[in-house]
Amino acid sequence: LDGYTLNPGDLSWEELEKFGDLTVYDRTSYDLGGQDLVVKRVGDAEIVFTNKTPLTKEAMDQMPNLKYIGVLATGYNVVDVAAAKEKGIAVTNIPTYGTTAVSQMTFALLLEMCHHVGHHSEEVKKGAWTNNPDWCFWNYPLIELAEKTIGIIGFGRIGQEVGKIAQAFGMKVLAYDSYPNKRLESSTLKYADLEELLAESDVISLHCPLFESTQGIINKNTIEQMKDDVMIINTSRGPLIVEEDLAEALNNGKIAGAAVDVVSSEPIKGDNPLLKAKNCIITPHISWAPKESRGRLMEIAVENLKRFLES
Ligand code: NAD
Repeated sequence: LDGYTLNPGDLSWEELEKFGDLTVYDRTSYDLGGQDLVVKRVGDAEIVFTNKTPLTKEAMDQMPNLKYIGVLATGYNVVDVAAAKEKGIAVTNIPTYGTTAVSQMTFALLLEMCHHVGHHSEEVKKGAWTNNPDWCFWNYPLIELAEKTIGIIGFGRIGQEVGKIAQAFGMKVLAYDSYPNKRLESSTLKYADLEELLAESDVISLHCPLFESTQGIINKNTIEQMKDDVMIINTSRGPLIVEEDLAEALNNGKIAGAAVDVVSSEPIKGDNPLLKAKNCIITPHISWAPKESRGRLMEIAVENLKRFLES
């Protein structure tokens, strides 16, 4: 499922083909008919790989041969893992492949909020320059990151990498995690509780998984506890943010900018409030997708399947 998203023609399926009959569905099925289409496509399969297409209990009920689901992603919230466990279906995910890609994208989004590169480039192509009285960069303030504080919610693999990059920019890091590793603390990095992180951070970046406990972690109440003019980045999972509350805070100027690579429902719905919110950058869940990281993802997928078949 989602074959095209995973491999838009620039990688090979050869290694997976060695295991048996492989059918690759070239369009994402999560936007083309939901679970009925999933069952129609892979109802007979013993092994299914998915990237973003959900596999619900209802779908699994109609897949009598299914033994293994390989989630070709780090976040495995697309699969009803409890139902799979009950049915004896093994589920694997792929941590680590995208740590570099997602942390780099986090900074691409942050730097775009600080420098508005895309906007300025478009203005110049339309004939503007900074001496043009009709257009001036003061409307798009440039922001320095050095000495600012970044609050990182979820300080695992990606969160820690974002922390390292932030420190290289001269930022101070506040980390919030359910399992703090105090050995990582330094003069520019310390763990904090959520309240302290919300109150002290100039930038807040989300890197925790989507669990019941983290769903809606950015909401009206937590936004009220933040500094004015904070910037928010979400490259983790859309439902971590209550989008109506974020849109309201962007529109009333409490939050200076937001950049999200993920939204509550993907592909994004036309009525998503972030589409019309002020100073909001939205990218279509692409953080993971450089060719290098997709190559690693494929390699680990093959390794996972091998281990499952040998077990
Ligand atoms: P990880 O497991 O290494 O780190 C997650 C961290 O979150 C862990 O340290 C964990 O202790 C912490 N955590 C769990 N529950 C928490 C809670 N309630 N409060 C605070 N912290 C909590 O995972 P990772 O490799 O760093 O990936 C993080 C997330 O990034 C993934 O779950 C996935 O949703 C997302 N992701 C997105 C993309 C993309 O393309 N946008 C790609 C890869 C991963």
